[in-house]
Amino acid sequence: MTTAINPSQLWKKRLGDWVLNPYVGCEHGCFHCYCPAMPGVKFMNHGHSQREWGKYLYPKSGLVDALRDQLRNFTPDRAKRTEWGDGWILMSFLTDCYTPSEAKHKLTRQCLQLLLDAGHKVRVQTRSVLVERDFDLLAAHADRVLLGTSLPHLDDKLARALEPRAAAPSRRLRMLEKAAAAGIPVYVAVAPFLPFHDRDVLEGVLSKVLPLRPREIFCEVLNPKGDNLAMMEEALTSAFPEQAARLAAYSPEHWSKFTWSVLKHGLARSRRFIPWPDTQRQWRTHLPEASVSFLDRFLPPRELLAA
Ligand code: SF4
Repeated sequence: MTTAINPSQLWKKRLGDWVLNPYVGCEHGCFHCYCPAMPGVKFMNHGHSQREWGKYLYPKSGLVDALRDQLRNFTPDRAKRTEWGDGWILMSFLTDCYTPSEAKHKLTRQCLQLLLDAGHKVRVQTRSVLVERDFDLLAAHADRVLLGTSLPHLDDKLARALEPRAAAPSRRLRMLEKAAAAGIPVYVAVAPFLPFHDRDVLEGVLSKVLPLRPREIFCEVLNPKGDNLAMMEEALTSAFPEQAARLAAYSPEHWSKFTWSVLKHGLARSRRFIPWPDTQRQWRTHLPEASVSFLDRFLPPRELLAA
C-alpha cells in the first residue's frame, strides 16, 4: 500500500500542498479529462488506455489503515511545512473522490473523518452530489474545509455528452447552494472552460455562483492531453455538430484570443476569480520550460497584456 497523503505540486494552482486519492480511475468518464494521460494514473491503472477511462475503478485497499498510521506523525503543523505553506490537503486529484462506487466503499468518508479529526484542512473537489451524504462532517468542521465543484457551463445537455456519468451542472449548482446554506465554505472551478464557449457562458456561471459568496472561482481552460480532444470531438459529433466542428478547427491563435477574453472578463468581474493560466505569467517561476512554452502559446504577447 502506498502512502495515503502525498505531496502535490497543485499548490502552484493554489489548490493544495497535499493530495489524497482514494481510487485509481473515475467512473464519471468525462471525455475532456486529462487524468488518464497523467503519469500518476498510468503508473497504477493496470495498463488501461486513455479511452477506457470511466470503465474501471480500483479502490485503494488498505488506504484507511495507511492513513491512520500516517496521521500519527503527519500533524497539521507538518502539513504546513511546504513551499506554499498553507497545509491544505486536496481530495482528490486524478480521480473524483465521490465517484459513484464511493456510496458502497465509503473510503472517502472514512478518510475525511480521520483527516478532520486530526485537525487538518481539507479541500474537497467533486462533480458528484454524493458529497451531500458527508455534509454533516463538512459542516461540523466548516473552519477547516472548502468544498468545490466544477461548473464549466450550465448546459445539462452538453454536460451529458461530455461528462456522461457525472451529476448535471444544474444539480451540482443545487448541491453548492445547499452546502452554502449549511454553512460550508464553497468554491467553484470553471473547468475546463471549453474552446467553443465565450464570455456569455462564463457570465452565466458567475451570475449563479457569486451570490453564494464562493471563496474563489478558479478558471482553467481545456487542457489538451493525449486523446482527450479527439474523444470530445467524437462525443459531440451527433448531438453538437457545430461545437465538434469548432473543436476540430481549434488553433493556438483562436485559443489565445478566447482565453484572454474570458480570463480578462472574469478578472474584471470578481476579485475572487483565479485565472489559470494566470495573466501575470506567474507560472514562469514554477514550471519547466516545456510547460511554460505550452502555456505561453495561449495568451497574447506581453505588450498586449500591458495595454
Ligand atoms: S469527474 Fe473529474 S476526475 Fe472524474 S472523469 Fe470527470 S474530470 Fe476526470
